[in-house]
Amino acid sequence: MVKRNPNIAKLPAGYLFPEIGRRWRALLERQPDAKIISLGIGNTTEPLTPHLVEGLRNAAQTLGTAEGYSGYDDDPKGQALLQNLKTKLSDKWYHGRVSPEEVFISDGAKCDCGRLQMLFGAEVTIAVQDPAYPVYVDGSVIAGATGAHDPERGQFDGLVYLPCTPANAFFPDLSALPRTDLIYFCSPNNPTGAVSTREQLRELVAFAKRNGSIIIFDAAYAAFIRDDSLPRSIFEIEGAREVALEVNSFSKPIGFTGVRLGWTAIPRELAFEGGAPVGKDWSRVMNTLFNGASNIAQYGALAALDDEGLAEMGETVGYYMENARIIKEGLTDLGLTTHGGVNSPYVWAEFPGRKSWDVFTEILEGAHVVTTPGSGFGPSGEGFIRFSAFGHRSDVEEAVRRLKESTKP
Ligand code: PLP
Repeated sequence: MVKRNPNIAKLPAGYLFPEIGRRWRALLERQPDAKIISLGIGNTTEPLTPHLVEGLRNAAQTLGTAEGYSGYDDDPKGQALLQNLKTKLSDKWYHGRVSPEEVFISDGAKCDCGRLQMLFGAEVTIAVQDPAYPVYVDGSVIAGATGAHDPERGQFDGLVYLPCTPANAFFPDLSALPRTDLIYFCSPNNPTGAVSTREQLRELVAFAKRNGSIIIFDAAYAAFIRDDSLPRSIFEIEGAREVALEVNSFSKPIGFTGVRLGWTAIPRELAFEGGAPVGKDWSRVMNTLFNGASNIAQYGALAALDDEGLAEMGETVGYYMENARIIKEGLTDLGLTTHGGVNSPYVWAEFPGRKSWDVFTEILEGAHVVTTPGSGFGPSGEGFIRFSAFGHRSDVEEAVRRLKESTKP
């Protein structure tokens, strides 16, 4: 018999979202007529916008002609398409802060996070925000970069957890931290909805520089920042090019969760001990493990970066942010303290002294609304619930109405 990979065996049973799905289905088995509304998983709900659809339709038509067809991206037409997209991201997204050859197009930020683990290997030490998007922790565990799970602390041995709570304005106390090779950092943050200020990111970059660490900056929700004083990319911070790489995605701002298109930006200056460029090894990993993002999705991304596409992106983001406002207002009316939901699509609600899963169950049973228990994102998420603004407006309004109903005395 083949031995099970011991690193996978370290993971406690059930990834967060399958467990939520299991509880959801269990309720439906007991109450088949329940009309359950999900404000739980960060999946997008609104249709693709017209300019994007036109871009995707044109892509399919182009691929249906002898002149336009391209296969793997190493053929000349595939190369030209890829180059166009890198150049447009460099110009329109990064405003020249990152050059086209520093952008690596992929099928999404989550997949890149997984491949980054392969890039850095099992020997690195890692710090993660707590709470955090689960792939940073679980990916590190699968890659063998952690010890066993300690059920007492709800943590993996060998991983450094950076508590981010209302008490520290969701920014870790860096003075109290040991050095690690990698620091995962997500802003706007999933799940807390917190957005780091320019000053905080300056501090983070200086900390990484002092320690010779690399920041893996997840900016998947950058487009949700509407306050121009807040940084949308780590590369807005001076010195970040020497200590950070950035993963990003079109999943949330333009509804490409199913179409799939993301990227990782790795500056030329980012190097390993001894001077080997990180980007060169990333290129090697990608060429080995990945065969290119869908060319149709790349055409879609090009359309998204047209002026019409960017305007539509603003509308899509605006729609979800209005949902966030409605949720936040509803929860505030209920007397709850909330965070986030202003420059990010997640509202993080406090339930002091309660267990997240108990509150999750209470809301699911009482209001037939699915949320996400904060403890599923890390020990510092205990006592919080994440409400996602990804949903149809009518569902969001109905969910808020039900929450108010179900908590009536
Ligand atoms: N990064 C964060 C912080 C996320 O919350 C998500 C999705 O929920 C992703 C990345 C995944 O992005 P993608 O769809 O590009 O894989």
